Amino acid sequence: MVADIDLLAEEITGCRICRDGPDGQCLPHDPRPVVKLSASARICIAGQAPGMRVHKTGIPFNDPSGDRLRDWMGVSREIFYDQSRIAIVPMGFCFPGYDAKGGDLPPRKECVGRWHDRVFATMPQLELILVIGQYAQRYHLGSRRGKTLTQTVQMARSLWQEQANPRILPLPHPSWRNSAWLKNNPWFESDVLPLLRREVQKYCCP
Ligand code: SF4
Repeated sequence: MVADIDLLAEEITGCRICRDGPDGQCLPHDPRPVVKLSASARICIAGQAPGMRVHKTGIPFNDPSGDRLRDWMGVSREIFYDQSRIAIVPMGFCFPGYDAKGGDLPPRKECVGRWHDRVFATMPQLELILVIGQYAQRYHLGSRRGKTLTQTVQMARSLWQEQANPRILPLPHPSWRNSAWLKNNPWFESDVLPLLRREVQKYCCP
């Protein structure tokens, strides 16, 4: 018998809403949802949306940002891509295309309306969600987030102490574009990263 989670993953793989019936502009390319659901993972990485490279390869975080994220988490590529240990659910499952300045557009809003509640209801075993970027913060923290992304990341330890289930740890995006932010906010490395590494070890490398 096929598990609910496998059926849901299959449904998502076939999703063409942003091409065939979008809320706004059509995707300028064929959708290619990139999402890793898991019936056993206790950790989920909730990011923004795939970039062009992920769209082409289907492999999330297979770039210098991913290397930095793995370094923050203290895990090897082998563990990071082990779907039985780590789920990956961005706020938009497909590459959204580029804006007029050549930057990536925000995650497609159709995705959260159509999929996210179902996805997270299908993974009740999750104990820790790493929330990357403002869109994921909005969905996973709602009014519990700060006024800015920096404020929300500063709340990481107090959010962790709330002992919610699943626990939420907000992170900045690991992109090279955030190197200045990391330099200007040294508390992230000294205070948040040790907590992150300890929790990741607990939930995915016991
Ligand atoms: S972004 Fe989400 S809603 Fe849009 S086509 Fe991809 S999977 Fe479907």
